[in-house]
Amino acid sequence: MNSALRNSAAHVFVDSVDAPALGDVDAHHLLRVLRVKPCDVVTVSDGVGSWRTCVVDGDAKVEVTSDVMVEPPPKWKLTIAFSVVKGDRPEWTVQKLTEIGIDEIIVLAPTTRSVVRWDAGRANKNIERLRVVAREAAMQSRRVWLPNVRDLIDLAQVTGAYIADPSGVPIDASHRTIAIGPEGGFTNDEISGGNGAVSLGETILRAETAAISAAVLMSSCRTK
Ligand code: SAH
Repeated sequence: MNSALRNSAAHVFVDSVDAPALGDVDAHHLLRVLRVKPCDVVTVSDGVGSWRTCVVDGDAKVEVTSDVMVEPPPKWKLTIAFSVVKGDRPEWTVQKLTEIGIDEIIVLAPTTRSVVRWDAGRANKNIERLRVVAREAAMQSRRVWLPNVRDLIDLAQVTGAYIADPSGVPIDASHRTIAIGPEGGFTNDEISGGNGAVSLGETILRAETAAISAAVLMSSCRTK
């Protein structure tokens, strides 16, 4: 990782890196929570690869201090599709998937054995919240490519998905989209409807642990 990004006092997403301006929430976060001072180096990114350094004064005005740098997109895109789990675990899952570097995050519409179901109104609200979580996690982890948190999608509509199931094969670089089932697991039909099954090891993992493990294993194949 570039050292300016790694060492910045804060990393924040802006609409335009050519004329960066902070939104109210980000300005509050930088000045009041992180207590960024005008002497601190801050990095701003548009979330699609461009970023630069700047300083922020006490009125949240941004002054750029470097040219715009452009980071190419990752070698290939990694996608995790996961079934809704209880409570705040979807948020936790999205936060960790973002930290690990997953590019596309899909919340699956209920599968046969799903217990937790979001109705349409709740789904929209929850997905919006997950987008905020992803953005915050991407700032924290200094990403310059924001992950895409998609609207709810049916498992059958997730293109090229490998199905995480203990019966599957070990993960290699060909596995770039993995679907994680609900606590009750996927049915045989759901498993055979995918591109193939992939294993995450010899133990049965909780759904959210499975999502994180799949992300780490796929990401490690991309790093090699
Ligand atoms: N009761 C289910 C387990 C469900 S765990 C069963 O026995 O199959 C929830 C989801 O996590 C599963 O649907 C699967 O997608 C994933 N998962 C958990 N452990 C896994 C493993 N060892 N390998 C692959 N996927 C796993």
